[in-house]
Amino acid sequence: MAGLIDINKATLEQAACAYASMGWPVLPLLPRKKEPHGKLVRTGLLEATDDLGRLRLWWEMWPNANIGLRTGIAFDVVDLDGPEALKSLSLVAPGYKHAGPVASTGRGYHLLFKTTGARNAANKLSSIDYRGINGYIVAPPSVHPNGHKYQWAKDGELPEAPEWLHQLTTPARSSEDYGERFEVEDIVPVFISLYSSIRELTPSGNLFKTNCIWHEDGTPSLYLYPHNNTFNCYGCSEWGDTLDLQQTFNEGGIAPSAWREIRKQRKVLG
Ligand SMILES: [Zn+2]
Repeated sequence: MAGLIDINKATLEQAACAYASMGWPVLPLLPRKKEPHGKLVRTGLLEATDDLGRLRLWWEMWPNANIGLRTGIAFDVVDLDGPEALKSLSLVAPGYKHAGPVASTGRGYHLLFKTTGARNAANKLSSIDYRGINGYIVAPPSVHPNGHKYQWAKDGELPEAPEWLHQLTTPARSSEDYGERFEVEDIVPVFISLYSSIRELTPSGNLFKTNCIWHEDGTPSLYLYPHNNTFNCYGCSEWGDTLDLQQTFNEGGIAPSAWREIRKQRKVLG
């Protein structure tokens, strides 16, 4: 595979296939827009795929479709949207130099990092968004609504998330859920001890995947994130951490969202 910089000169179809070959899930967006090709791609983000046949079909149908890359699987993105963002960044990370891939967007920059398991978060700092689980970015050589072409400005290995990045992210759980301080156990051994009789884990990069416990899936859609001990299902959007996994198991395999609802009601009832 050629490097990211070469993708700047590729056609949209070639670029989509190049990303897919790197294991980066791609979804078609409307031409010169940021929205998914919604009319024909019914479920939006969930349709993101690295299946080359599917991608070729899409870009044969819509040769001018912009390229969306799903975040939270292979990488996460810090979205610096405009000059204001650089000012915000210099406050939390003075003198920061990004060692990994950087794309220039219509107004600012996308910085790519190894995925952290954190969810999407907007504007925790002025003009800076975080794209993680359940997010996506517009990727080169897509065309911004303002006519600017997204371009890779820098290639490189995906770096680990630096300490300051946690100020931009939303943790999977709020500390008020279980009191100020809690220690969660490593999610992989806990998952194996609870579910190994009915579910097999497969390594997927630095993550693990398996068939979902809470919905029927043909291909594995439940991912475990060992670096922050959380899980997320890309089919039914159930998410949580090791403690959620243990508690829902003890409640008879109830879905985490249903369990959160029950817990909330118990809290209200005192
Ligand atoms: Zn699921």
